[in-house]
Amino acid sequence: MGGVGTVSCLDCDFAQEVTSFTHGGRSSNTGVQCQACGQFTSIFYTRPTLNVSDGYDHNKTLSELVTEDWPVRIGKLLGHLDFYQEMMNEPGRAGERSGWLAKIDEARRELSAVPTEQIQALELKHQAEKAADDAQYDCECGGRRVNKKPLFCPSCRSIKLQYKVRYMT
Ligand SMILES: [Zn+2]
Ligand SMILES: [Zn+2]
Repeated sequence: MGGVGTVSCLDCDFAQEVTSFTHGGRSSNTGVQCQACGQFTSIFYTRPTLNVSDGYDHNKTLSELVTEDWPVRIGKLLGHLDFYQEMMNEPGRAGERSGWLAKIDEARRELSAVPTEQIQALELKHQAEKAADDAQYDCECGGRRVNKKPLFCPSCRSIKLQYKVRYMT
């Protein structure tokens, strides 16, 4: 389900426009409903550390990228390291290990251009951005917001809700 639409209640006259799910280039917007008070709202993510410049090419290595794109590339390399290191522990796949080791080596070599402090600072930023996004799921009423489709009418609590998409994104 994606797009902007209207939620209306079949048992009362409640109607509200909601954004169910829209993606912008550098951010995304998700429609959520508080499970406790029923309020519909949109949460808006931005992840500055995941921003890339217009010329970004995910095949380019750090030395070929402008520094503003480094955080994304570094994040990707760290992801590779985690992934392949985990694969190394998979039983019964010894034949593939030399390939994984080569990938690990490659990622380590590329990352060696980056000071450890910079990597640590980036990881902290990632965590802070994630926590900020997560905090948006907490409603002022103390309830928790969910991003499934509308669950109940905030006004009469009926579950007979209709969702009409006005346009898709
Ligand atoms: Zn609430
Ligand atoms: Zn209602």
